Amino acid sequence: MDMPPATEGLRESAWIQPMTLAHEPPVFPPRETQDWLRCPVYRDLSKKWEPRGPWEPNRALGTAIAKGLEVYFKNPGADGPAWTACEQSLESEYVEQPAWTLEGLKKLAARGLKLALEQAATIVATEHILLVEEPVGECRPDLVTRSKADGQLIVTDGKVSLNLDPRWQDKRLGEYDSDFQFWHYAWRVGEHFGEPVAWTRLQLTVLSPKTRSLLVPYRVTSKRVSFWLQGAQQAWEGMERERQGAPPAPNFMSCHGRYGRCPMYDACHVLDRDPKAMKALYTQRGSV
Ligand code: SF4
Repeated sequence: MDMPPATEGLRESAWIQPMTLAHEPPVFPPRETQDWLRCPVYRDLSKKWEPRGPWEPNRALGTAIAKGLEVYFKNPGADGPAWTACEQSLESEYVEQPAWTLEGLKKLAARGLKLALEQAATIVATEHILLVEEPVGECRPDLVTRSKADGQLIVTDGKVSLNLDPRWQDKRLGEYDSDFQFWHYAWRVGEHFGEPVAWTRLQLTVLSPKTRSLLVPYRVTSKRVSFWLQGAQQAWEGMERERQGAPPAPNFMSCHGRYGRCPMYDACHVLDRDPKAMKALYTQRGSV
């Protein structure tokens, strides 16, 4: 990667704005905060309910390839355990249904993992592995490394896409430049090591229509971390108020989103969030 000189330290960047906060709010995990920013009602409902519908393999494939990479980075250079972990994960997540066979999914996952492991080998050769799937504060980045060339910190997050049309690839990659979770990792890992993270990085494995694995760096600067933190702290204030009893408020801007209707649309706009009525269209989490 073409890495410019390191920026100033986080603490020097005035990223905390004490004039706007009577106290520092508690910090919430990135995924939960993302859900809250999307819509506080969504965050609340999706913790308790999930829409009924056919099983989709996306999550199982993503978890399986992530597991393979995790095992590889924990045992650098050993492919065998990574393949085994990937396959075992897929077998345990698979749900019998007519659309997807386990054998077919194993082949898809194997094609993706092969390319992802080739990239992982390059990372292992050029970077020191510092943390693999370990908790850092309230988050758990997939991989934290330090460049052997210039000593800079890099946080890598793996994603898997079952299908990504090449026409939409650039747009998709561009979205991670301002991805909330990536900035949370940059901030928190910087706090943990006492020095700024220089790059966040996406390792995106695409399984169809053509299998590919992409490693895309995003520049982190202290000023942008500071900017991100202002928004995050405001969200955490709101989440904390809900933890203390305030009801979650809807955000109608998110009822129809980029990928269509919100999964909780019927719950909110047809069933008035009535738990009894919701049982017809939603499953209560933890009830099966
Ligand atoms: S349907 Fe709208 S109000 Fe309901 S959870 Fe989704 S985004 Fe929020």
